[in-house]
Amino acid sequence: LTLLGIESSCDDTGAALVRHAPGAAPQILANCIAGQTELHAAYGGVVPEIAARAHAEKLDLMVEAALAEAGLGLADIDAIAVTAGPGLIGGVLSGVMLAKGLSLASGVPLIGVNHLAGHALTPRLTDQQAFPYLMLLVSGGHCQFLRVDGPDDFTRLGGTIDDAPGEAFDKTAKLLGLPQPGGPSVEREALAGDPARFAFPRPLLDRAGCDLSFSGLKTALMRARDALVAEQGGLTQQDRADLCAGFQAAVADVLAEKSRRALAQCPDITGFAVAGGVAANKSLRAALERVAGQVPFLAPPLALCTDNAAMIAWAGLERFRDGHRDDMSLSARPRWPLDTTAPALIGSGK
Ligand code: ATP
Ligand code: FE
Repeated sequence: LTLLGIESSCDDTGAALVRHAPGAAPQILANCIAGQTELHAAYGGVVPEIAARAHAEKLDLMVEAALAEAGLGLADIDAIAVTAGPGLIGGVLSGVMLAKGLSLASGVPLIGVNHLAGHALTPRLTDQQAFPYLMLLVSGGHCQFLRVDGPDDFTRLGGTIDDAPGEAFDKTAKLLGLPQPGGPSVEREALAGDPARFAFPRPLLDRAGCDLSFSGLKTALMRARDALVAEQGGLTQQDRADLCAGFQAAVADVLAEKSRRALAQCPDITGFAVAGGVAANKSLRAALERVAGQVPFLAPPLALCTDNAAMIAWAGLERFRDGHRDDMSLSARPRWPLDTTAPALIGSGK
């Protein structure tokens, strides 16, 4: 089977081709992506209208580029998978409209994919991970533990009740005058820092279960910064490094402890995987690998951890194989929880 995948739910425009022959490892034939970081840089966040326009301009070019790279035409494709949500509605609509147009013109079947399912099924694309497994999704917009039992069978064990960790890294960088995206800047500063100098809170550790909170951590960091500024008139290089190290250690500690609990809830799983941009963080990866213990720990390559279209093509392939098809009534959904049995998600608008 060969699928075309289309992704446009946030600030990356992607098209990819993924092939899977029975008995062989899945192959990524092309994985094209165009980011929009420069377009949004002046605004301190993704501007939905600018994002939608950029997706509309770039989507067809990405699809062309992916087909050219793989040396394929639409006639060689078994289905077209497209992110149908959750995400910024203008971008999702651009992708869905293009996918419908291509499907209508070529007669190739259409499949709507949940963006979060794309992230959650990535370990099956990269490592042929068998079900069931545990997934920790940690990105700029999401933070949740998912038990994955099938391509359409996700159980949410817990997640953030306020900010996502990536958001917290970005705000920390902003508070300390470091460049965006904040994650890599904070990680770089933390290398020279003392994680024990500031006693940052470990939110929700006293509460049972796998829920997390990151907004209090941000407030604690702001207080520590303000106290230093009031005392010495500003921050030294060392202060900044120590603040970053303390913050990063608190995030890693909390995620590791909650992972330990999620793992304990799933004694039958055969793998523990991470995805999302924050999974790039080396000290976090090390902490998670430690708590995984005997359970194999999987961290896909970074380009497949952050938003990409290969994961959408793969999630579409799994659904297609299970007999799933969509038609022209497929709609774009700004909100679309993976686990429909879970209570309404709180925070981060997703
Ligand atoms: P989503 O995919 O949930 O819609 P997003 O597109 O913002 O959100 P990603 O692209 O997966 O998320 O990840 C971006 C986030 O990852 C940013 O918040 C960034 O600061 C964070 N990040 C990137 N590298 C690191 C790192 N080394 N350490 C910590 N955080 C990081
Ligand atoms: Fe994403």
